[in-house]
Amino acid sequence: MGNSDQPVSVVGAGVSGMTTAVVLAEAGIEVEISSAMPPRQTTSAAAGACWSPYLVNHERATEWSEVTLAILAELANQDHTGVRIVGGIDASRVPTAAPNWTEKLNSFRLCHQNELPGGYLVGWWYEMPILDMPVYLDYLAARLARVGVEVQLRKIDSLHDLARDRIVINCTGVGARELCGDDLIMPARGQLVVVNNPGLTTFFQDCEEREEDLLYWLPQGDHVVLGGCTSRDSGSLEPDPEVAREIVKRCARIEPRLAEAKVIENRVGVRPSRKEVRLEEEGNIIHNYGHGGAGVTLSWGCAATVLELVKELGVAHRV
Ligand SMILES: Cc1cc2nc3c(=O)[nH]c(=O)nc-3n(C[C@H](O)[C@H](O)[C@H](O)COP(=O)(O)OP(=O)(O)OC[C@H]3O[C@@H](n4cnc5c(N)ncnc54)[C@H](O)[C@@H]3O)c2cc1C
Repeated sequence: MGNSDQPVSVVGAGVSGMTTAVVLAEAGIEVEISSAMPPRQTTSAAAGACWSPYLVNHERATEWSEVTLAILAELANQDHTGVRIVGGIDASRVPTAAPNWTEKLNSFRLCHQNELPGGYLVGWWYEMPILDMPVYLDYLAARLARVGVEVQLRKIDSLHDLARDRIVINCTGVGARELCGDDLIMPARGQLVVVNNPGLTTFFQDCEEREEDLLYWLPQGDHVVLGGCTSRDSGSLEPDPEVAREIVKRCARIEPRLAEAKVIENRVGVRPSRKEVRLEEEGNIIHNYGHGGAGVTLSWGCAATVLELVKELGVAHRV
């Protein structure tokens, strides 16, 4: 145990920061959260998002994903969380084995050939949480507000200055590259298209391993999120119209109802890719960033680990 009366400052209000702040505040710890941008303007708000360990590496990634899966399953039973459980298919045109994490899913089964789109060789059906991220981030903000915590908009220039009289949780995503001088953060731009839902109730994901030209759709009630792409040569937040057209074209080749669906929004976000998630203590600072393409998937598990580390350092509790 360290000092017993330190308050905690979470920096960053994407899914990592918001979830961490919820977990700490609901454990009775005195927490504040600050962010350069409001939650709805973060990478997290741009994500698809589904529960899926993608573009991420850490020996505890599976454990963190499982913690998150259980909590998202509960949230799917509640109103206004933006979380729903949806069934669907991952499929591949080349021989591929289902990833290990599918073993944990009760709903998992291999597909018959006649369930797969033309040209696909192998596929599996399962149910997973799909999150409407702007709604979900609002839900987390409302949960924080219930325990008296509001996001303060301010850019932090030095974590070490902030950490002089408090514990700091660094949840700054790609911002950590500048804030901590962490060159291991490799920004990976992603783009999605949101369209009116022409009647889809199941998701589809082409699970062949590649970064560019991803192909998936995630139905979310009245709209469907179409993906996607990953590009490492630009950090621009401007949607590229050609990339958007190609995303719709790829999806519509498999699901023709998507060809004429009205486009509601183009989304761009920059994934905080890193050779490994950084979740560790450095003096009074606990880093929780570098979640790549799986920040939503890891969020509750990582927040639980942060809580353990914070307790070891010793913190002030709300009166
Ligand atoms: C197109 C796309 C699709 C995706 N799909 C999925 C998916 O289906 N499932 C999934 O699990 N993940 C998905 N991801 C990945 C996921 O979005 C990220 O891993 C996750 O959003 C990272 O969250 P974060 O809170 O760590 O970072 P961010 O959301 O980037 O938040 C960082 C926060 O830190 C703040 N900040 C940064 N620097 C400073 C500073 N100096 N001072 C103060 N505040 C600062 C920012 O303002 C922001 O509030 C997707 C990503 C993209 C782009």
